[in-house]
Amino acid sequence: MGLVNDRHEVVEKAEGLTCCGEGPAAVIDRMGRMARELLHKAGNPPISCAGLGCPGVLDREAGVVIYSNNIRWQQVYVCRELKEQLKVPVYVENDANCAAMGEYLAGAGRGSRQMIMVTFGTGIGGGIIFDGRLYLGSHGNANIIGHTLIEKGGRECTCKRKGCWECYASTRALLLSAEKAGVFNGMDEPELNGRLFFEVLKAGQEAALRVFDEYTDYVAEGIADLINIFDPERIVIGGGVSAQGERFLGPVREKVKQKIYFKEMETAQIVCSVLANDAAIIGAANLSAQKYGQNDLSF
Ligand SMILES: [Zn+2]
Repeated sequence: MGLVNDRHEVVEKAEGLTCCGEGPAAVIDRMGRMARELLHKAGNPPISCAGLGCPGVLDREAGVVIYSNNIRWQQVYVCRELKEQLKVPVYVENDANCAAMGEYLAGAGRGSRQMIMVTFGTGIGGGIIFDGRLYLGSHGNANIIGHTLIEKGGRECTCKRKGCWECYASTRALLLSAEKAGVFNGMDEPELNGRLFFEVLKAGQEAALRVFDEYTDYVAEGIADLINIFDPERIVIGGGVSAQGERFLGPVREKVKQKIYFKEMETAQIVCSVLANDAAIIGAANLSAQKYGQNDLSF
C-alpha cells in the first residue's frame, strides 16, 4: 500500500499480509485501517481517490470483484466498502494492469504512447497501454498474454489449455526445466529460485547455459508475437528476471530480432521495469485518470 503524490511519487508505504482466509470483510477492514494509519503517518494530507489492484474478473464500473481465484473472493463490493472507510472514490483494476500503468506513467514506459508490460513470475502477466491509456478490450480482459499458445498439445496449463506461453516462459517454467536438467543437483539450498539459477548460470555451468538458451528462445517467441500484433514503442519486462538486466535482455533482444516479421525496420525497445512493487501502487493511484481519460503525459 502506498500514498502517491501528483508527481507519481510514492511518499509513504505500508505492507501487510492479505490473510484472505479470514474472508473479504476482515481483509477490507484491515486495508481501510492500514490506509488510515498510513495517512496519519503522513500528516493526514487530503486525498482525492484510492485505487486497488486485484487479480481476477472485475466489474470496474460497479467496483466489484466478481471472482478472484487467488484470494478466493466472489461478488465482493470492495470499492463501496472501502469508500465508506476512506470517504473518497475508490477504483479497482487488474493488478497487472496497474503495474503496467505505473511503469508507463513513472517508470520504464515513460515517454512512450504504446507500451506493453510483460511480467514473468509464477505465470506471465501483462498490461497493454494503447495511445496513452490502458487497453482493456471489449469485456475488460485484454491482458491475458500468458495464455497464448506456443506448443499445441504441449504442457498442461492452469487454464486447462495445453501449451500456453507461460508454461514455457514463466520463471516457474524456467526453474522446472532447470531442475529437470540437473542444474541444481548436489545443492542443499532450501529454496530453488531464479536468483540461484542465475548464479549457477554466471558460473558457466553447461546445463544451466542450455536451459537458459531454450528459455530465452521461448520468451522471445512470445515477445515477437506481441510486437507483430501491436507494434508497440516499448516492451517493459517485469518480474524477478528484470533484476538480471542485460544478462537476460541481451539474448532476448537478439532472438526477438530474428523472429519478428519486419526485420529491417525499427522495432520496439525492450527494457526492464524500474519501479518493482511501486509500479502497481502508482498505477492504482491513477485509476481515476484512466477512467476519465485524463492521463496527462506532461507530468
Ligand atoms: Zn493457459
